[in-house]
Amino acid sequence: FLPTIFVITPTYARLVQKAELTRLMQTFLHVPQLHWIVVEDSPRKTALVTDLLKKSGLVYTHLHFLTAKDRKLQEGDPSWLKPRGVEQRNEGLRWLREDRRAPPGEDGQQGVVYFADDDNTYSVQLFTEMRNTQRVSVWPVGLVGGMKYERPVVEGGKVVRFHTGWRPSRPFPMDMAGFAVSLRLVLTNPEACFDGEAPMGFLESSFLKGLVTMDELEPKADDCTKVLVWHTRTEKPKMKREDALQAQGLGSDPAVEV
Ligand code: UDP
Ligand code: MN
Repeated sequence: FLPTIFVITPTYARLVQKAELTRLMQTFLHVPQLHWIVVEDSPRKTALVTDLLKKSGLVYTHLHFLTAKDRKLQEGDPSWLKPRGVEQRNEGLRWLREDRRAPPGEDGQQGVVYFADDDNTYSVQLFTEMRNTQRVSVWPVGLVGGMKYERPVVEGGKVVRFHTGWRPSRPFPMDMAGFAVSLRLVLTNPEACFDGEAPMGFLESSFLKGLVTMDELEPKADDCTKVLVWHTRTEKPKMKREDALQAQGLGSDPAVEV
């Protein structure tokens, strides 16, 4: 018997979306007992994501939640200005609390909740590590925060501080990809969510601070010495020649899904 891992992924339409989701989907196909919760940042579910999920062979839930315009990063804004994927992750949490609510008097389903952005790179081993999360488990994240890696520092089996390049005094100076939470904790703390108004770098803390203390964190990946997830970012493809051809009426066929 394996606890289910619920993976919440915010995603939004752009040229690389299908490539990102294909890569993610094919990683998740190697993971048993995984339930993918995909939350589109869009006014409605798109055909691209609907078809991809249908054909994936994964157990999934498809949701959407449009980020309000004033909360969204505008073209040209520096990427640190506003947090991304906040309302989508909260929508995933809302669905879990409604759909996986334990019947009165019962403990409910055993499970784990993980927030997986669509552009990161995930080792299959990471899911083995998080499978038995009791409250909140943690591990290193590679290529993040202007560092080779960030990680919790473990002494005597406990997290005692964090290796990070920036504001280690934050309650939980960890990237979104660096922790998982038990489903039970999510269900028994119905108010815990991500605060989109939290100051830069405090989004993860806004969710975790009501759920767990540093002392209770469960270090995984060999006492946080192995990097099993990377905060990779995908380059925006250049469309210089596409635009030039389009101007002559010779652009790529819009009927071909990319
Ligand atoms: N995202 C979104 N809407 C947006 C921008 C991003 O739903 O307007 C999603 C994106 O697909 C990803 C997550 O939010 O899963 C984090 O975004 P991104 O990877 O751009 O953030 P960064 O890596 O720069 O922190
Ligand atoms: Mn990213």
